[in-house]
Amino acid sequence: MSFTPLKNLKSSYDTIVIGSGLGGLTCANRLARAGHSILLLEHHTKLGGLATWFKRKGHVFDVSLHGFPYGMVKTCKKYWNKAIKDSIVQLDNIVFDNPQFSLKTSFDKEDFVKILNQKFQIEMSVVDEFFATVNKMNFYDDQSMTTRELFEKFFPGRSDVHRLLLEPITYANGSTLDEPAITYGIVFSNFMNRGVYTFEGGTDKLIHMMQDELVANGVTICTKARVNRLIIEKDRITGVIVGNKKIHAKSVVSNSGITNTVTNLAGREHFSPDYLERFDAVKVNNSSCQVYFGVKQGERFDDVGDLLFTSTAKQFSSEEMLDMQTKSRTFSIYYPKTRPEKPDYTVVASMNGNYDDWMRLDDTEYEKAKVDMIERSYNDLERYIPGIREKVDWVEAATPRTFNRYTLHTKGTSFGTKFEGLEISRSIYKELPGLFHVGSVGIIMSGWLGAINYGVIVANDVDGYLRS
Ligand SMILES: Cc1cc2nc3c(=O)[nH]c(=O)nc-3n(C[C@H](O)[C@H](O)[C@H](O)COP(=O)(O)OP(=O)(O)OC[C@H]3O[C@@H](n4cnc5c(N)ncnc54)[C@H](O)[C@@H]3O)c2cc1C
Repeated sequence: MSFTPLKNLKSSYDTIVIGSGLGGLTCANRLARAGHSILLLEHHTKLGGLATWFKRKGHVFDVSLHGFPYGMVKTCKKYWNKAIKDSIVQLDNIVFDNPQFSLKTSFDKEDFVKILNQKFQIEMSVVDEFFATVNKMNFYDDQSMTTRELFEKFFPGRSDVHRLLLEPITYANGSTLDEPAITYGIVFSNFMNRGVYTFEGGTDKLIHMMQDELVANGVTICTKARVNRLIIEKDRITGVIVGNKKIHAKSVVSNSGITNTVTNLAGREHFSPDYLERFDAVKVNNSSCQVYFGVKQGERFDDVGDLLFTSTAKQFSSEEMLDMQTKSRTFSIYYPKTRPEKPDYTVVASMNGNYDDWMRLDDTEYEKAKVDMIERSYNDLERYIPGIREKVDWVEAATPRTFNRYTLHTKGTSFGTKFEGLEISRSIYKELPGLFHVGSVGIIMSGWLGAINYGVIVANDVDGYLRS
């Protein structure tokens, strides 16, 4: 039995991890491997957080398995296991299609250099210098330069080049031209390292493999366990309240969003005015909308690419991409190769979404907005897979409300917070000894790779704290 019911939990552990996103799972696993007793509490019925899937009419739909950088190979081998690492495979057919250009790419540096030079006619010396600049960017760099300034420096007035370079990153994490160039640079060069990768077998297989390893390493896992509050005594964390049960711990790692962690789990009264001033300046990222299409057993379609960045908007604009009526969407196409053990054709259309736009609708308006979004997605998808309507036997939409309901994230944020959230997350233990935060912050600690790597960093912090 992988999961322990709430009533059977012990009264204390070395560390309690709140939330089983990739950051929480990795942190729990590392700490258990280091010999600490770990309790993992998750409010949902299954593990994974946003790295999740759901089943409908025989189809399995992946929510956030669209693509991650090559760095996942090394990270999974080192911090999880070889079997997980061995299931990582490349997606080499990435399509861009918009009024400014249409192209196919393997989305790695070699191909991007060729495209920039040969298709967009950018001089080789400029392309080389751009890549060298972006590759050099790191965490501690000057954060005053924006992505807009970076692009204007290398490709002045070239909105088509700006679109090629930023649109996929904006689809992924809502980055805008006005954010620090460093957040763009780190994410872009991660992908440019070796291209875009996925997990063969799907999210369900990955999370079950992680679950098996957690159990083997002795982590106690309890689902349907929503933590209501942290227990704080003499300005230190001493445990959590889950349901009406108090469980004690020497340290607590929150994988709940940083905004939830400070405001709802701890309470603002426990933080210094200086910290709160910086915390109040933290902006959460946008949320997402998705439309899921399942194709009838026995039906098929030709290979049209793995990831299609499509738009009928004249120019790239992150505001346009957030609009409820956006003309921009990514199609992730899942062929039988995605789950060789359970072959199927599914498609997920992803769009950025603004929580407030969806929250202000009443029930009737909400249902209608979802139907309209499905219709717009169908219209766009038909341009790539003619006759898709007749082949589909399941279609369903998710909105920012859905993401909020399942993860409890503030405004259903898909990628945590903007850059300023990172420092708040990293320094929370100074405010409340024993409390640590792991999870999507500052874009670079987000996404599958960022969340797992952050889990490792925070596990090291907690290990040091427990041993000190
Ligand atoms: C639509 C969409 C598409 C995406 N596509 C990609 C992609 O292609 N590639 C990529 O790399 N990334 C993608 N991402 C982002 C990626 O999935 C996330 O950045 C990553 O999975 C987040 O991990 P995390 O550790 O921050 O935790 P989360 O996944 O945010 O999980 C947090 C967990 O904490 C739990 N929790 C919260 N509060 C409590 C509480 N009080 N008590 C108990 N449990 C609690 C939640 O239920 C949840 O399980 C996508 C995200 C979305 C929404």
